[in-house]
Amino acid sequence: MTARNQVTPKLGAHMSIAGGVDLAIERGVSIGCEAVQIFLKNATQWRGRNISGTEARRFRDLRKCSGNVPVFAHASYLINLGVENPRSVAALVDEIERADLLGVPFIVLHPGSHLGAGETAGLTCVARNLDEVFAATASSKVRIALETTAGQGSCLGHRFEHLAEIIRRVEQPKRLAVCVDTCHLFAAGYDIRTRGGYEMVMKQLDGLPVVAFHLNDSKKPFGSRVDRHEHIGKGFLGLEAFRCVLRDARWRGLPMVLETPKGEDMREDVENLRVLRSLTFPSTRRM
Ligand SMILES: [Zn+2]
Ligand SMILES: [Zn+2]
Repeated sequence: MTARNQVTPKLGAHMSIAGGVDLAIERGVSIGCEAVQIFLKNATQWRGRNISGTEARRFRDLRKCSGNVPVFAHASYLINLGVENPRSVAALVDEIERADLLGVPFIVLHPGSHLGAGETAGLTCVARNLDEVFAATASSKVRIALETTAGQGSCLGHRFEHLAEIIRRVEQPKRLAVCVDTCHLFAAGYDIRTRGGYEMVMKQLDGLPVVAFHLNDSKKPFGSRVDRHEHIGKGFLGLEAFRCVLRDARWRGLPMVLETPKGEDMREDVENLRVLRSLTFPSTRRM
């Protein structure tokens, strides 16, 4: 196990927190996840049920029992730091407090949408809002991992330069990191379908503090700027891109999770994880 962890990323999937956050770990472990992404509350509602002390304790205990499987969070889709919006700032502060309670190290966040104000104004706004969020959670170690986006509508974050600009502008850049989504990259116009294309794209990414990947194929063609996830190898992205990511020494040990459609029995995750593992170096494969 140790040998494998040294040379391959930790593969897993986004898990539902229905019934309690601790159940997400149970669900993930039950299908062989080596990493788990969760929401810290219902992702489509502003207000979420509080996480009780007991629930947080169960979560931490279960994580320990599972060999400290890496767990990180994805922020609510309602949060938009690309415009002036105190509600979004408050919601992200709340999510950081939840992450602290659970011992979750970072929260993946879509940088935001400028809603017509333009990219420069939008990026300035994101940085200013993040400064406010970090000031309100000064004692927290939780980082915000800005996600590369597909660039739908006025969404920011579909160019690496956007993420670099936000990191440059904030007062506490160390509290920021980056999460790369393969489907979003491809939809945004970064062609990682071939080894050569992949290397060129990753060179542009160089210097950004990548802490996680979302491994999704794309239902939409290259450069569509539409965000629709497909099962691994079943979309326009194809298997070679995933082979490149999984064998890249730069991402050794990083958590990488699926965000692909699935039913309650998670059969689809099992199959996607099997496909992904078949693409890792043969010597590191887990049977
Ligand atoms: Zn994603
Ligand atoms: Zn997406």
